[in-house]
Amino acid sequence: MRQIGREPIFIDYGEGCEIVDVDGNRYLDWVGSWGPLILGHAEPAVISAVIEAARRGTSFGAATAAEVQLADEVVDRFPSVEMVRMTSSGTEAAMGAVRLARAITGREVAIKFAGAYHGHSDGLLADAGSGLATLGVPGSPGVTSAQAAATVVVPWNDREAVSRALEEHPVAALLAEPIAANMGVVPPLPGFLEFLREATAAAGALLVFDEVITGFRVARGGAQELYGVEPDLTVLGKIIGGGLPAAAFAGPREAMERIAPAGDVYQAGTLSGNPLAVAAGLATMSRLDVAAYARLGELTERLADGFATLAEDRPLQVSAAPGLTTLFFSPEPVHDFASASACDTEAHARFCRALLDRGVYPPPSQFEAWFVSLAHSEATVDRTLEAAAEALDEALA
Ligand SMILES: *Cc1c(COP(=O)(O)O)cnc(C)c1O
Repeated sequence: MRQIGREPIFIDYGEGCEIVDVDGNRYLDWVGSWGPLILGHAEPAVISAVIEAARRGTSFGAATAAEVQLADEVVDRFPSVEMVRMTSSGTEAAMGAVRLARAITGREVAIKFAGAYHGHSDGLLADAGSGLATLGVPGSPGVTSAQAAATVVVPWNDREAVSRALEEHPVAALLAEPIAANMGVVPPLPGFLEFLREATAAAGALLVFDEVITGFRVARGGAQELYGVEPDLTVLGKIIGGGLPAAAFAGPREAMERIAPAGDVYQAGTLSGNPLAVAAGLATMSRLDVAAYARLGELTERLADGFATLAEDRPLQVSAAPGLTTLFFSPEPVHDFASASACDTEAHARFCRALLDRGVYPPPSQFEAWFVSLAHSEATVDRTLEAAAEALDEALA
């Protein structure tokens, strides 16, 4: 909120696609807790499942049938996955996937894309998107030089830079958000994911798709289904916990059996696979069938098309993927973090303030996606577009 020159908003409660702050102001919410709430706030089926689970005990530190059921759901949706390790956050899941990749390859370097976010573990903070991009920090104090040196950062959508990095370094893993969504939404250029698949395989490096945002959102089986490209390992989060803390990393049996206790790669978590989070995840998943994704796609298209109409005679770019969209304040197309960073963040901040004044709560950063949920509707999209038209007149005046 500081980045857009606003006092923070303290939330009192949420219902459906709306949130209400402690002063009683009601907003149409396009953040959805940054992605998890694909069904909207306080969805009755999710809340009942959580209450039901809580009655039976909040944590055991031992296996439950429900977490196996959630793992089965992941395996069913992602053909590249045979086994799943639950964690409590996407940060831990990405960290675990990189550790596993290092153990499998016997190499140390991880490649990431500038503006991509893989959580806040030390080694993956270099040139990260999301909050770091919003605050304009290239890394973070407190990260050792050895940790930073083990991460090589390359521009998104840049094949040459990827090839060079794979040649020059002993690469264990290349991490990619298959649709970049933490620098604003920046889809891969045609053929880019296929290129990553071939280039990593040729170099003996593992391809890790961080689908913490895209998994369960852009298609039933995430971006790997949408683009038909299978990674070696997959990182999941956000929607998988249905608004409670759950995440996972996953892959083929042979790779995943390296993890303790079956194998020698240590990983653990007291609350991992927590029964409440698993219940919320399963209840959410039970709604996410093919029809739900068609509906989410329709709603996103209506919003993104509306933005595109507003962008016709203005210095704006619209990008979108199912369930995600960004309005970039740039006269030039955005294809990587450098072009996203060239956006007019002052005008974007004015736009956000003007939307908030009209009861619309956008992601208050140029480098975050608008998250569409199944609780939105044609009417809420249209109301948002009306507010956006006025807000743009104010922002670009
Ligand atoms: C949110 C996010 C993470 C980190 O997940 P946390 O649960 O916040 O630790 C990792 N990767 C991507 C792509 C994310 O969007």
